[in-house]
Amino acid sequence: MKITHVEVHRIVVPPADPPFRWRDGLSGSAPVGDGAVLRIGTDEGAEGVALFARPGAAVMLEDLVERVFREELIGQDPFQREWLWHRVWELDRIHELPLPAFGLIDIALWDLAGRVYNQPVWEVLGGFRRQIPAYASTSTFATVEEFLDVADQCLALGYRGIKLHAWGDARRDAQLCLALRQHVGAEVPLMYDGSAGFDLPDAIYLGRALAEADYLWYEEPMREFSISAYQRLAESVSIPLLVAETSDGAHMNSADFIKVGAATFGVRTSTTLRGGITGAMRTAHLADSYQLRAEVHGSDIPNHHLCMAISNTTYYESLVTATTVVRERHVDDRGMVHAPTGPGIALPLDFQYGSELQQFVEQASA
Ligand SMILES: [Mg+2]
Repeated sequence: MKITHVEVHRIVVPPADPPFRWRDGLSGSAPVGDGAVLRIGTDEGAEGVALFARPGAAVMLEDLVERVFREELIGQDPFQREWLWHRVWELDRIHELPLPAFGLIDIALWDLAGRVYNQPVWEVLGGFRRQIPAYASTSTFATVEEFLDVADQCLALGYRGIKLHAWGDARRDAQLCLALRQHVGAEVPLMYDGSAGFDLPDAIYLGRALAEADYLWYEEPMREFSISAYQRLAESVSIPLLVAETSDGAHMNSADFIKVGAATFGVRTSTTLRGGITGAMRTAHLADSYQLRAEVHGSDIPNHHLCMAISNTTYYESLVTATTVVRERHVDDRGMVHAPTGPGIALPLDFQYGSELQQFVEQASA
Protein backbone atom coordinates (compact mmCIF):
# COMPACT_ATOMS: atom_id res chain seq x y z
CA MET A 1 0.00 0.00 0.00
CA LYS A 2 1.32 3.47 -0.89
CA ILE A 3 0.30 6.96 0.15
CA THR A 4 -1.10 8.77 -2.88
CA HIS A 5 -2.69 11.92 -1.49
CA VAL A 6 -2.27 14.32 1.40
CA GLU A 7 -4.98 16.95 1.81
CA VAL A 8 -6.02 19.67 4.24
CA HIS A 9 -9.72 20.36 4.87
CA ARG A 10 -10.54 23.59 6.64
CA ILE A 11 -13.18 23.52 9.40
CA VAL A 12 -14.69 26.28 11.52
CA VAL A 13 -13.77 26.03 15.21
CA PRO A 14 -16.51 27.84 17.15
CA PRO A 15 -15.57 29.94 20.20
CA ALA A 16 -16.12 28.46 23.68
CA ASP A 17 -19.54 29.38 25.03
CA PRO A 18 -19.19 31.00 27.50
CA PRO A 19 -15.59 32.14 26.84
CA PHE A 20 -13.13 31.27 29.61
CA ARG A 21 -9.81 32.40 31.08
CA TRP A 22 -6.51 30.87 32.11
CA ARG A 23 -4.08 32.40 34.64
CA ASP A 24 -3.03 36.04 34.43
CA GLY A 25 -0.72 36.56 31.48
CA LEU A 26 -2.04 33.74 29.29
CA SER A 27 -4.52 33.99 26.42
CA GLY A 28 -7.97 32.71 27.30
CA SER A 29 -10.31 30.72 25.05
CA ALA A 30 -9.95 31.64 21.38
CA PRO A 31 -12.51 33.46 19.27
CA VAL A 32 -13.94 31.65 16.24
CA GLY A 33 -11.04 30.26 14.19
CA ASP A 34 -10.03 28.14 11.23
CA GLY A 35 -9.07 24.61 12.22
CA ALA A 36 -8.04 21.90 9.81
CA VAL A 37 -8.20 18.17 9.20
CA LEU A 38 -5.16 16.41 7.74
CA ARG A 39 -6.28 13.59 5.44
CA ILE A 40 -3.90 10.94 4.15
CA GLY A 41 -5.07 8.51 1.43
CA THR A 42 -3.62 5.52 -0.39
CA ASP A 43 -3.71 3.67 -3.70
CA GLU A 44 -5.89 0.97 -2.09
CA GLY A 45 -8.51 3.38 -0.79
CA ALA A 46 -7.52 3.26 2.91
CA GLU A 47 -7.54 6.70 4.54
CA GLY A 48 -6.85 8.32 7.90
CA VAL A 49 -7.38 11.77 9.37
CA ALA A 50 -6.07 13.96 12.17
CA LEU A 51 -7.74 17.06 13.61
CA PHE A 52 -5.76 20.25 14.20
CA ALA A 53 -8.04 22.70 15.99
CA ARG A 54 -5.72 25.18 17.69
CA PRO A 55 -5.72 28.90 16.88
CA GLY A 56 -4.06 29.45 13.51
CA ALA A 57 -4.20 25.74 12.69
CA ALA A 58 -5.49 25.95 9.11
CA VAL A 59 -2.86 28.38 7.84
CA MET A 60 -0.09 26.49 9.64
CA LEU A 61 -1.10 23.05 8.36
CA GLU A 62 -1.71 24.18 4.76
CA ASP A 63 1.75 25.70 4.72
CA LEU A 64 3.42 22.60 6.19
CA VAL A 65 1.64 20.23 3.80
CA GLU A 66 2.51 22.33 0.75
CA ARG A 67 6.14 22.91 1.68
CA VAL A 68 7.14 19.73 3.56
CA PHE A 69 4.66 16.97 4.41
CA ARG A 70 3.16 16.07 1.01
CA GLU A 71 6.50 15.62 -0.72
CA GLU A 72 7.72 13.51 2.21
CA LEU A 73 4.67 11.24 2.33
CA ILE A 74 3.73 10.51 -1.29
CA GLY A 75 4.88 7.02 -2.24
CA GLN A 76 5.52 5.93 1.38
CA ASP A 77 4.00 2.85 3.04
CA PRO A 78 1.34 4.14 5.51
CA PHE A 79 2.02 1.23 7.89
CA GLN A 80 5.65 2.30 8.40
CA ARG A 81 4.62 4.62 11.24
CA GLU A 82 7.87 4.23 13.12
CA TRP A 83 9.96 5.17 10.08
CA LEU A 84 7.75 8.17 9.33
CA TRP A 85 7.82 9.30 12.99
CA HIS A 86 11.60 9.39 12.77
CA ARG A 87 11.40 11.18 9.40
CA VAL A 88 9.31 13.92 11.02
CA TRP A 89 12.03 14.32 13.66
CA GLU A 90 14.60 14.64 10.91
CA LEU A 91 12.50 17.27 9.12
CA ASP A 92 12.08 19.13 12.42
CA ARG A 93 15.82 19.85 12.45
CA ILE A 94 15.43 22.40 9.66
CA HIS A 95 11.76 23.33 9.85
CA GLU A 96 11.31 23.57 13.68
CA LEU A 97 7.76 22.23 13.48
CA PRO A 98 5.21 23.59 15.96
CA LEU A 99 4.86 20.93 18.70
CA PRO A 100 1.10 20.36 18.15
CA ALA A 101 1.73 19.83 14.41
CA PHE A 102 4.50 17.32 15.00
CA GLY A 103 2.22 14.36 15.69
CA LEU A 104 -0.48 14.96 13.07
CA ILE A 105 0.93 12.61 10.44
CA ASP A 106 1.35 9.91 13.10
CA ILE A 107 -2.23 10.34 14.35
CA ALA A 108 -3.64 10.15 10.80
CA LEU A 109 -1.62 6.98 10.11
CA TRP A 110 -2.83 5.31 13.33
CA ASP A 111 -6.38 6.28 12.36
CA LEU A 112 -5.79 4.71 8.94
CA ALA A 113 -4.44 1.51 10.50
CA GLY A 114 -7.41 1.23 12.87
CA ARG A 115 -9.80 1.64 9.94
CA VAL A 116 -7.99 -1.05 7.93
CA TYR A 117 -8.07 -3.45 10.92
CA ASN A 118 -11.62 -2.35 11.79
CA GLN A 119 -10.57 -1.77 15.42
CA PRO A 120 -10.39 1.31 17.65
CA VAL A 121 -6.80 2.48 17.98
CA TRP A 122 -6.62 1.81 21.73
CA GLU A 123 -7.17 -1.88 20.87
CA VAL A 124 -4.65 -1.85 18.04
CA LEU A 125 -2.15 -0.46 20.58
CA GLY A 126 -2.90 -3.35 22.92
CA GLY A 127 -5.78 -2.40 25.18
CA PHE A 128 -5.18 -2.06 28.91
CA ARG A 129 -8.63 -1.00 30.22
CA ARG A 130 -12.17 -0.27 29.04
CA GLN A 131 -12.95 2.57 31.43
CA ILE A 132 -11.07 5.15 33.46
CA PRO A 133 -12.11 7.78 36.04
CA ALA A 134 -12.23 11.42 34.93
CA TYR A 135 -11.08 14.42 36.92
CA ALA A 136 -12.52 17.88 36.41
CA SER A 137 -9.78 20.19 35.15
CA THR A 138 -10.94 23.74 35.77
CA SER A 139 -10.27 26.89 33.83
CA THR A 140 -9.55 30.01 35.94
CA PHE A 141 -12.55 31.46 37.76
CA ALA A 142 -12.84 34.89 39.39
CA THR A 143 -13.03 34.11 43.11
CA VAL A 144 -12.42 31.41 45.72
CA GLU A 145 -16.20 31.14 46.13
CA GLU A 146 -16.67 30.42 42.41
CA PHE A 147 -14.01 27.69 42.53
CA LEU A 148 -15.64 26.07 45.58
CA ASP A 149 -19.06 26.17 43.96
CA VAL A 150 -17.69 24.63 40.73
CA ALA A 151 -16.01 21.92 42.83
CA ASP A 152 -19.32 21.07 44.51
CA GLN A 153 -21.04 20.81 41.14
CA CYS A 154 -18.27 18.62 39.71
CA LEU A 155 -18.41 16.18 42.61
CA ALA A 156 -22.22 16.05 42.44
CA LEU A 157 -21.93 15.25 38.71
CA GLY A 158 -19.68 12.28 39.47
CA TYR A 159 -16.17 13.58 38.75
CA ARG A 160 -13.55 11.61 40.73
CA GLY A 161 -11.12 14.44 41.40
CA ILE A 162 -10.48 18.13 40.75
CA LYS A 163 -7.50 19.90 39.25
CA LEU A 164 -7.16 23.65 39.63
CA HIS A 165 -5.81 26.08 37.07
CA ALA A 166 -5.76 29.20 39.27
CA TRP A 167 -4.50 32.78 38.96
CA GLY A 168 -0.74 32.40 38.83
CA ASP A 169 -0.22 34.32 42.08
CA ALA A 170 1.64 32.02 44.49
CA ARG A 171 0.13 33.45 47.72
CA ARG A 172 -3.42 33.70 46.44
CA ASP A 173 -3.26 30.28 44.73
CA ALA A 174 -1.93 28.69 47.93
CA GLN A 175 -4.89 30.09 49.88
CA LEU A 176 -7.30 28.75 47.27
CA CYS A 177 -5.72 25.29 47.38
CA LEU A 178 -5.98 25.15 51.18
CA ALA A 179 -9.58 26.44 51.09
CA LEU A 180 -10.58 23.80 48.54
CA ARG A 181 -9.07 21.01 50.65
CA GLN A 182 -10.97 22.25 53.71
CA HIS A 183 -14.15 22.52 51.67
CA VAL A 184 -14.16 19.04 50.06
CA GLY A 185 -12.58 17.10 52.95
CA ALA A 186 -9.65 14.71 53.05
CA GLU A 187 -10.85 12.03 50.64
CA VAL A 188 -11.24 13.87 47.32
CA PRO A 189 -8.15 13.69 45.05
CA LEU A 190 -6.99 17.25 44.31
CA MET A 191 -4.35 18.42 41.87
CA TYR A 192 -2.88 21.79 40.96
CA ASP A 193 -1.57 22.95 37.57
CA GLY A 194 0.60 26.09 37.52
CA SER A 195 0.66 26.49 33.71
CA ALA A 196 4.26 27.64 34.09
CA GLY A 197 3.33 30.79 36.01
CA PHE A 198 6.17 30.88 38.55
CA ASP A 199 9.90 31.14 39.13
CA LEU A 200 11.69 28.79 41.51
CA PRO A 201 11.15 30.67 44.83
CA ASP A 202 7.40 31.05 44.21
CA ALA A 203 7.14 27.47 42.96
CA ILE A 204 8.73 26.28 46.23
CA TYR A 205 6.39 28.42 48.35
CA LEU A 206 3.32 27.08 46.60
CA GLY A 207 4.62 23.52 46.59
CA ARG A 208 4.88 23.57 50.39
CA ALA A 209 1.26 24.70 50.68
CA LEU A 210 0.14 21.91 48.32
CA ALA A 211 1.99 19.35 50.44
CA GLU A 212 0.28 20.71 53.56
CA ALA A 213 -3.10 20.36 51.83
CA ASP A 214 -2.25 16.80 50.68
CA TYR A 215 -2.62 17.36 46.94
CA LEU A 216 -2.01 14.34 44.71
CA TRP A 217 0.27 16.13 42.25
CA TYR A 218 1.82 19.53 41.44
CA GLU A 219 1.94 20.13 37.70
CA GLU A 220 4.11 22.45 35.58
CA PRO A 221 4.74 25.33 38.02
CA MET A 222 7.59 26.69 35.84
CA ARG A 223 8.44 26.78 32.13
CA GLU A 224 9.96 23.42 31.32
CA PHE A 225 13.25 24.60 29.83
CA SER A 226 15.42 24.52 32.96
CA ILE A 227 15.52 20.94 34.14
CA SER A 228 17.94 22.11 36.84
CA ALA A 229 15.23 24.38 38.28
CA TYR A 230 12.88 21.38 38.47
CA GLN A 231 15.62 19.36 40.15
CA ARG A 232 15.95 22.10 42.78
CA LEU A 233 12.18 22.20 43.22
CA ALA A 234 12.01 18.42 43.69
CA GLU A 235 14.73 18.67 46.37
CA SER A 236 12.81 21.45 48.16
CA VAL A 237 9.20 20.20 48.32
CA SER A 238 7.57 16.92 49.31
CA ILE A 239 4.56 17.33 47.00
CA PRO A 240 4.90 14.88 44.06
CA LEU A 241 5.70 16.66 40.77
CA LEU A 242 4.13 15.95 37.39
CA VAL A 243 6.41 17.42 34.72
CA ALA A 244 7.33 17.66 31.04
CA GLU A 245 3.94 18.50 29.53
CA THR A 246 4.98 21.21 27.08
CA SER A 247 8.72 20.69 26.70
CA ASP A 248 10.06 19.81 23.25
CA GLY A 249 11.81 16.50 22.60
CA ALA A 250 9.15 13.86 23.38
CA HIS A 251 10.53 10.89 25.37
CA MET A 252 14.14 12.11 25.10
CA ASN A 253 13.41 15.27 27.07
CA SER A 254 11.17 13.38 29.52
CA ALA A 255 14.09 11.02 30.18
CA ASP A 256 16.22 13.89 31.46
CA PHE A 257 13.46 15.12 33.81
CA ILE A 258 13.30 11.58 35.20
CA LYS A 259 17.08 11.21 35.43
CA VAL A 260 17.53 14.26 37.67
CA GLY A 261 14.75 13.11 40.01
CA ALA A 262 12.27 15.85 39.04
CA ALA A 263 9.42 13.54 37.97
CA THR A 264 8.47 12.51 41.49
CA PHE A 265 4.88 11.68 40.48
CA GLY A 266 5.59 11.16 36.80
CA VAL A 267 5.56 12.81 33.42
CA ARG A 268 2.86 14.17 31.16
CA THR A 269 2.13 12.46 27.90
CA SER A 270 -0.20 13.39 25.06
CA THR A 271 -0.67 13.01 21.34
CA THR A 272 -0.68 16.81 21.12
CA LEU A 273 2.75 17.63 22.55
CA ARG A 274 4.72 14.35 22.50
CA GLY A 275 4.48 13.61 18.77
CA GLY A 276 1.24 11.75 18.18
CA ILE A 277 0.31 8.28 19.38
CA THR A 278 3.82 6.91 18.76
CA GLY A 279 5.58 9.60 20.83
CA ALA A 280 2.98 9.45 23.60
CA MET A 281 3.28 5.67 23.97
CA ARG A 282 7.07 5.88 23.93
CA THR A 283 6.92 8.42 26.77
CA ALA A 284 4.51 6.21 28.74
CA HIS A 285 6.77 3.17 28.38
CA LEU A 286 9.78 5.22 29.44
CA ALA A 287 7.99 6.30 32.63
CA ASP A 288 6.74 2.75 33.24
CA SER A 289 10.29 1.43 33.24
CA TYR A 290 11.01 3.79 36.19
CA GLN A 291 7.77 2.83 37.99
CA LEU A 292 6.40 6.33 37.33
CA ARG A 293 3.04 7.49 36.00
CA ALA A 294 2.47 8.96 32.56
CA GLU A 295 -0.63 11.09 33.01
CA VAL A 296 -2.48 11.85 29.80
CA HIS A 297 -2.85 15.56 29.05
CA GLY A 298 -5.92 16.84 27.24
CA SER A 299 -9.50 15.95 26.54
CA ASP A 300 -9.54 15.19 22.84
CA ILE A 301 -10.24 11.84 21.18
CA PRO A 302 -6.66 10.71 20.41
CA ASN A 303 -5.86 11.20 24.12
CA HIS A 304 -9.06 9.32 25.01
CA HIS A 305 -7.58 6.32 23.14
CA LEU A 306 -4.28 6.74 25.00
CA CYS A 307 -6.06 6.52 28.36
CA MET A 308 -7.31 3.04 27.42
CA ALA A 309 -3.92 1.81 26.19
CA ILE A 310 -1.46 3.15 28.81
CA SER A 311 -1.10 0.99 31.93
CA ASN A 312 0.63 3.60 34.12
CA THR A 313 -1.97 6.36 33.89
CA THR A 314 -4.65 7.25 36.43
CA TYR A 315 -7.25 9.61 34.98
CA TYR A 316 -8.85 11.17 31.96
CA GLU A 317 -8.59 15.00 32.02
CA SER A 318 -12.01 16.58 31.43
CA LEU A 319 -12.12 20.36 31.04
CA VAL A 320 -14.64 22.33 33.10
CA THR A 321 -14.73 25.91 31.89
CA ALA A 322 -18.08 27.38 32.98
CA THR A 323 -19.40 28.29 36.42
CA THR A 324 -22.50 26.28 35.58
CA VAL A 325 -20.83 22.91 35.12
CA VAL A 326 -21.86 20.66 32.26
CA ARG A 327 -20.36 17.19 32.31
CA GLU A 328 -18.40 16.46 29.13
CA ARG A 329 -20.35 13.95 27.03
CA HIS A 330 -17.65 11.26 27.30
CA VAL A 331 -17.99 11.22 31.13
CA ASP A 332 -20.83 9.21 32.71
CA ASP A 333 -22.70 9.96 35.96
CA ARG A 334 -20.18 7.92 37.98
CA GLY A 335 -17.35 10.01 36.56
CA MET A 336 -16.15 7.21 34.29
CA VAL A 337 -15.00 7.52 30.68
CA HIS A 338 -15.52 4.48 28.48
CA ALA A 339 -13.36 3.17 25.65
CA PRO A 340 -14.21 4.35 22.12
CA THR A 341 -15.86 1.64 20.04
CA GLY A 342 -15.59 2.77 16.41
CA PRO A 343 -12.67 1.95 14.07
CA GLY A 344 -9.58 4.15 14.01
CA ILE A 345 -9.49 7.31 16.13
CA ALA A 346 -12.43 9.33 14.72
CA LEU A 347 -13.11 13.06 14.51
CA PRO A 348 -15.13 14.55 17.39
CA LEU A 349 -18.81 15.36 16.92
CA ASP A 350 -18.26 18.89 18.25
CA PHE A 351 -17.51 20.51 14.88
CA GLN A 352 -19.31 20.96 11.55
CA TYR A 353 -17.60 19.01 8.78
CA GLY A 354 -18.21 18.93 5.05
CA SER A 355 -19.89 15.83 3.60
CA GLU A 356 -16.47 14.52 2.42
CA LEU A 357 -15.38 14.10 6.08
CA GLN A 358 -18.58 12.57 7.54
CA GLN A 359 -17.23 9.02 7.21
CA PHE A 360 -14.50 9.85 9.77
CA VAL A 361 -16.73 11.37 12.48
CA GLU A 362 -17.39 9.43 15.71
CA GLN A 363 -20.81 7.87 16.27
CA ALA A 364 -23.16 9.78 18.58
CA SER A 365 -23.42 6.88 21.04
CA ALA A 366 -19.63 6.55 21.53
MG1 LIG B 1 -1.19 21.00 32.38
